[in-house]
Amino acid sequence: MALNPVTNELMPATAARPRPLQRLLLAVARWFDSQAGGPDTGDDDRIDWARAVPFIAMHAACLGVLWVGVSATALAVALGMYALRMFAITGFYHRYFAHKAFRTSRPVQFLFALFGAMSVQRGPLWWAAHHRNHHRHADTEHDPHSPLYRGFFWSHMGWFLTRRGFRTDAASIPDLMRYPELRLLDRFDILVPVATAAGLFLLGDLLAAVAPSLHTDGAQLLIWGFFISTVLLFHVTVTINSLAHRYGTRRFDTRDNSRNNALLALLTFGEGWHNNHHHFPGSARQGFRWWEFDFTYYGLCGLAVLGLIWDLKPVPVALKRVG
Ligand SMILES: [Zn+2]
Ligand SMILES: [Zn+2]
Repeated sequence: MALNPVTNELMPATAARPRPLQRLLLAVARWFDSQAGGPDTGDDDRIDWARAVPFIAMHAACLGVLWVGVSATALAVALGMYALRMFAITGFYHRYFAHKAFRTSRPVQFLFALFGAMSVQRGPLWWAAHHRNHHRHADTEHDPHSPLYRGFFWSHMGWFLTRRGFRTDAASIPDLMRYPELRLLDRFDILVPVATAAGLFLLGDLLAAVAPSLHTDGAQLLIWGFFISTVLLFHVTVTINSLAHRYGTRRFDTRDNSRNNALLALLTFGEGWHNNHHHFPGSARQGFRWWEFDFTYYGLCGLAVLGLIWDLKPVPVALKRVG
C-alpha cells in the first residue's frame, strides 16, 4: 500500500505511481499550495514541466513590454523593486536565514522574509535549506547546483525546476522550522508575488489618474516593476550558482571551485565575492577588503544603526590579510 499524493488516501501497491493526469493535477495544485497532497518527497532530477509553468509564464509575460512601452517612472520602479528584493534575498534569505550572520527580532525577520518572498524565489525555508546543502556539499555530486557536475543550464536554473529542486529539506533547517509564520510563507509561496503584482498594477492605475505627467499606468508598472524586474533579479541571483563557481579569482584554497568576481559582486550587491564567502560563510560581510564593495553589507550596517538588527558577525582579522 502507498499514499495517493492527490487524495492522501491509501491505495493498492499496483496503483502506487500516480497516473499522468493525477501528476498533472497535483502539479497544478502545487502552484498554489506547495504542500498539496502532503509534503513533497520528490527526488526526481528531471524538470517538472507542469509545475514550472508559472516560472515559464513569468518570462513570457515580459513580452508585454511590446504593448505597454516604457517610461522613466516604470524604469525607476523596476530598478527600485530589483534593489529592494536583491537586498532582501542577499541580506536576509542568504546571510540571515541560511547563515545566521546576525540577529534580529521576530517581526523584522518576518518583514524581510516577506520582501524576500516578493522575489518569486520561493519561501525563506526552501531557500535556506537548499543553500545550506550547497555549502555542505559544494561542487560535489551532492551539491544541488554545481556547474562542474551538470553544466551551466543545470546550475543556473535546471535544478530549480526539478521535483527534487521543489522540495524543502526540513532536516537542514530545524532552527527555522519552529516559526509557524515562516512555514506558512513557504507553503503558500505564490501569495506574496501575486499580491505584489496586483499592488503594482493598482499603483500604476492610481498614478495614471492623479499624476498623468508620469506617463505610466497599471499594465506598464506590472510588466516593468514585476515581470521584467523579477526575471532579471532571478537570473542575476543564480549567476552566483552558475558563474561564480567558474569565473573569477580564488584568494582561498577552498574545497570547492568558488570564485571572487567583481562584476557579479556589483550586480548582486556583494555576493560575487563568493570565494571569500565559501571560505568563511559565517560573516555578515562578503567583501573582505575595503575595496571589495558589498552593498548588502552597507545596508545591513544601516539597519544595525537603526537598531533593527544586531550582532553582525565580523570577518576574522587574520582573513583580511590573506592574499
Ligand atoms: Zn557557492
Ligand atoms: Zn552562502
